[in-house]
Amino acid sequence: MMKDIATPIRTQEILAKHGLTVKKSLGQNFLIDPNILRKIVGKANLTKQSAAIEIGPGIGALTEHLARDAGKVLAFEIDQRLLPVLEDTLSPYDNVAIVHSDILKADVQQAIDKELQGYDDIMVVANLPYYVTTPIILKLLLEKLPIRGMVVMLQKEVAERITAKPGSKAYGSLSIAIQYYTEAEMVVTVPKSVFLPQPNVDSAVIRMIKRPQPQVEVIDEDFFFLVTRGSFAQRRKTIFNNLQTAMPQGKEKKELIVKALEEAGIEPARRGETLSIEEFGLLSDKLHAYFG
Ligand code: SAM
Repeated sequence: MMKDIATPIRTQEILAKHGLTVKKSLGQNFLIDPNILRKIVGKANLTKQSAAIEIGPGIGALTEHLARDAGKVLAFEIDQRLLPVLEDTLSPYDNVAIVHSDILKADVQQAIDKELQGYDDIMVVANLPYYVTTPIILKLLLEKLPIRGMVVMLQKEVAERITAKPGSKAYGSLSIAIQYYTEAEMVVTVPKSVFLPQPNVDSAVIRMIKRPQPQVEVIDEDFFFLVTRGSFAQRRKTIFNNLQTAMPQGKEKKELIVKALEEAGIEPARRGETLSIEEFGLLSDKLHAYFG
């Protein structure tokens, strides 16, 4: 078997061979530890009947592990300079398709239709560029792609927010948006020493498995997200105060907010961080009757 890309020596050799400098603005922190890669890929439970979608293959460190375990890999890379590098480093693998695109602008469904035909089990597996982790995860969930879930490396602080439970400091509208669609858990914490260059922040890997149905059934999803975002707009304020700002003409229609809170069985003096997703679902439906 070929030597792993993800060792300090091989990574340096590849960068030197291609005269490549790392672009910090694109979140380029390459993995140089094969053990971490094995752990990440292991958490995705891939077989040769699975396909993997990678965001930001870089010089191919994770991509080659995916190519070994999965039937096919589809990877999106924004940095044109990396395309010839990937062609070189991934030449031993014939089951990788690279798309040169910003993932936030890419038509991912179309790429799946073209490259991953016949694969029923699709996982997103990535060491994400840290400057855009949340928009990438939300895009992949909101587009309702035919994926089983995602295993992604990201900043530990964001990982904590995504997986947080009610009552904790990290719990907020991001936790709700993602847990509404997925079961999310932190699976590995990662030291800075496994990257080249080392990032300024700590990292973690989270696994998100899509739920067959969202965690709560609501009348209007957009309105539900308006309510949850609004409820955390000022974390120190009560849910009643935050909703007065979040609801259209909420200040003039305070009594309707009180009524909806009462109907949902929620004390107006509570803070957003104490409400479960189920409580937010119920509250959202009650408010929808007056403000939707
Ligand atoms: N997968 C490689 C690894 O683990 O060593 C590289 C990971 S590095 C943290 C992030 C990668 O995402 C870089 O290759 C970067 O160029 C790419 N990237 C940054 N922004 C992107 C975007 N909007 N769309 C696609 N790729 C992006």
